[in-house]
Amino acid sequence: MTTNRPVADLSADVLVLGAGIVGVSTAYYLAKRGKSVVVVDQLPGPALDTSFANGGQISVCHAEPWASPDAPLKVLKWLMHEDSPLLFRPRLDPMQWWWLVSWLAECRPARFKQNTLDILKLATLSRTKIQEIRADESLVYDHKTLGILHFFRSQKAFDGALPMVELMAQFGCERQLVDRQRILEIEPALAGAASEIVGGTYTAEDESGDAHQFTVELTKVCERMGVRFLYNHQVVKLDAEMGRVTGVDLRNLTDASYRTLKAGHYVMAMGSFSQALLAPLGVRPNIYPAKGYSVTIPIAGHNGAPTVSLTDDAYKIVYTRLGDRLRVAGTAELSGYSRDINRVRAEALLNRTREVFPSAGNFAEATFWTGLRPTTPSNLPYLGRSPLTNLSLNAGHGTLGWTMGPGSGYLLAEAIVAGDPRTTLI
Ligand SMILES: Cc1cc2nc3c(=O)[nH]c(=O)nc-3n(C[C@H](O)[C@H](O)[C@H](O)COP(=O)(O)OP(=O)(O)OC[C@H]3O[C@@H](n4cnc5c(N)ncnc54)[C@H](O)[C@@H]3O)c2cc1C
Repeated sequence: MTTNRPVADLSADVLVLGAGIVGVSTAYYLAKRGKSVVVVDQLPGPALDTSFANGGQISVCHAEPWASPDAPLKVLKWLMHEDSPLLFRPRLDPMQWWWLVSWLAECRPARFKQNTLDILKLATLSRTKIQEIRADESLVYDHKTLGILHFFRSQKAFDGALPMVELMAQFGCERQLVDRQRILEIEPALAGAASEIVGGTYTAEDESGDAHQFTVELTKVCERMGVRFLYNHQVVKLDAEMGRVTGVDLRNLTDASYRTLKAGHYVMAMGSFSQALLAPLGVRPNIYPAKGYSVTIPIAGHNGAPTVSLTDDAYKIVYTRLGDRLRVAGTAELSGYSRDINRVRAEALLNRTREVFPSAGNFAEATFWTGLRPTTPSNLPYLGRSPLTNLSLNAGHGTLGWTMGPGSGYLLAEAIVAGDPRTTLI
């Protein structure tokens, strides 16, 4: 999927901008409903940006947003510590400060509760859609349906987990409190770290899998349904007149030529880069990149890697087995659009993995990656919501784009088909 096949006819009912998990899911559901669709991306294939090497968790029942009543204090404590789970680097960037102030507002208890409920609704729908797609299209993406286990290293943190267990139960999501013995039954590979674990929460219905593989496979299904993909084409401008988008200007990154594509409807699904292209139209979603890291460790021939997807709450690190690889992901850096790898933060992920699972795999062959989570203050995406009559947004899925992406694609496609694509869908 790395070549750019010639696309003869590019007229379409819908032009989707961005071929990440969100854009491809949207294209899939539009095509299923009979729409002709073109998807544009600046990279040479699908899911090569933020959807490429994420934590792999479809964490519906652990879907609470970062913006919670106790988050500001935690963030203050972590501030400026080079190896903390969240790193804030202040910049002379009004977007960054607007995001931060809005995020503080979302930390209020009532907002936190409402956001959790809304995320849970979207994430639950999305998990059902992932299961349907898996069955209908026979997709293979190193998935597991063994649940997700969070473990805590301090009694205080474990005790603090109870209110969320109760809140999730109110919303119909079963999150069990589990003691150390039960944790080791669920994931025996944690035995070496048992003395440091005081308890955990387990959500049996949650899943995991490789978002990149899923998106690549779904792209093939889309192509079979007639969706056309135009890679290596960068969106440089959205043209608009009288409250409508009239075309999208593209730069061919292979030969530096320009072209304009026109469609009946346009979907913005460019993750962290949606904002910049929308601003000239007066559309200003509050999406800011939160850089995250992942390390992928080959585990074939080793027997110490976990099988169940895990989260180490103290360090906010996720462990997910993807076939013969262990994906370890975490950390958030609010520091602009750079994807540079900070060795301290990357090594911290690898070192923690070595401590907890010393015989997990071949650490010397680990590969590092960073991605920019398209984060909104509430952690809810912009879905629909556009002042232009033939433009819809599907961007800002933050920490949960794999969990919420297919559901978002479904909801937006249904709204476009129903002729009501601009309302706030969630
Ligand atoms: C370290 C890390 C761990 C994560 N773990 C999880 C997890 O366990 N579970 C979970 O649910 N989520 C997780 N996420 C979040 C998830 O990966 C993202 O929310 C999701 O990938 C966003 O998908 P997207 O399609 O919106 O964006 P992207 O995948 O970034 O897709 C946007 C596309 O737009 C294209 N594009 C951008 N600009 C232009 C332009 N000018 N012209 C043309 N194309 C353009 C890009 O090339 C890209 O392909 C994690 C993220 C990170 C970074």
